Amino acid sequence: MGRLHPWVFSGAIARIEGEVKEGDIVRVFSSRGQELGLGHYANGSIAVRILSFVLGEEINEDFWLERLASALRLRISCGLLKADDKESPNNVYRLVHGEGDGLSGLIIDVYGRTAVMQAHSMGMHLQRETIAQALMKVYEEFCGAGVLEAVYYKSEGTLPTKEQRELCSDGFLVGQTEQEVVYENGVKFLPDWLRGQKTGFFIDQRDNRSLVEHYAEGRKVLNAFCYTGGFSLYALRGGAERVDSLDSSSKAMYLTEEHIRLNFGEDCERHRSITQDAFNFLETMPENEYDLIILDPPAFAKHRKVLRNALIGYRKINTQAFEKIASGGILFTFSCSQAVSKEDFRLAVFSAAAASGRHVRILHQLTQPADHPVSIYHPEGEYLKGLVLQVD
Ligand code: SAH
Repeated sequence: MGRLHPWVFSGAIARIEGEVKEGDIVRVFSSRGQELGLGHYANGSIAVRILSFVLGEEINEDFWLERLASALRLRISCGLLKADDKESPNNVYRLVHGEGDGLSGLIIDVYGRTAVMQAHSMGMHLQRETIAQALMKVYEEFCGAGVLEAVYYKSEGTLPTKEQRELCSDGFLVGQTEQEVVYENGVKFLPDWLRGQKTGFFIDQRDNRSLVEHYAEGRKVLNAFCYTGGFSLYALRGGAERVDSLDSSSKAMYLTEEHIRLNFGEDCERHRSITQDAFNFLETMPENEYDLIILDPPAFAKHRKVLRNALIGYRKINTQAFEKIASGGILFTFSCSQAVSKEDFRLAVFSAAAASGRHVRILHQLTQPADHPVSIYHPEGEYLKGLVLQVD
């Protein structure tokens, strides 16, 4: 904590004074009685998530207003609030990325007029109404009235314990909006925050999708684990000769097709949908079918215990891609497992390349975009890793 890391582990606490309940705001003191900070208490291994290291600070309306304003200022300075831009409108971004925005336990994603809020701690859950009200105020001040119309709360799947999840009910905290078309770098999407995974859409691949667009011209593209088809849309816009999108979920393929229609009309002949298991598909696909392959699987390892299996999974799909990709091909390969380090992932991809015996060069090393900032004191916040490789 002396280093401003926002987690206090239960093992580091010698004594708790008074009654504390899950989600309470508590002050933390050193063994010498010096105040260190204050934050949300939980009965887990992370006992306190520190919200402030400022002595004597209170967690009140001003606190939320100041933190949310600071988060919004950063996204504005990153050029992400450009709903009216003629060439490349953008109104999808992550407004609050937990510890990266000094708000451990809170995620807020913005989809046009709607903010989708997720609590990962009871402390944030208990404050949800106050946070939603503060959010509306901050937007009104910075962006004017009507830019943000609603706040949807979606934590039934993210609170730490089963009892908490059962107590929680998802729904609008402020206003009510319908699904609407939103823009990411000018590409149209229709995020489904009610039924979609996480808050409805993967915002963290925005910059990496742009890089795919950059390499796509004239290429035959396979977008494996496509979910809502993000990479496919950018590849098509970048002039790919054809794009095959693949996901094992038919719901995901439905969303992908909906997005293809939205951007390229009813009959996009350059695009094909494949509903299949990616491991099977990669194993059986012929060689030289593709010269740009994207592998963006779900988190294979949710925690360190299953790390070995996760690395075997990464190695397997990457080996297939290296073996089958056409000469001069480009492979975009990702891992979004927080439990897998950059080094672990690099090693899995290295051993896949070595197994294929191909000549492979690293062109880019990718990570998450600026609206998913990482506090330098909380390296755990860095979770997305990607490599762009050229295969001769
Ligand atoms: N690339 C996407 C995000 C991928 S999320 C984007 O840019 O938005 C991971 C996706 O992998 C999910 O849609 C899930 O349905 C799919 N998936 C999980 N296991 C799979 C498997 N074995 N084969 C194919 N798809 C799989």
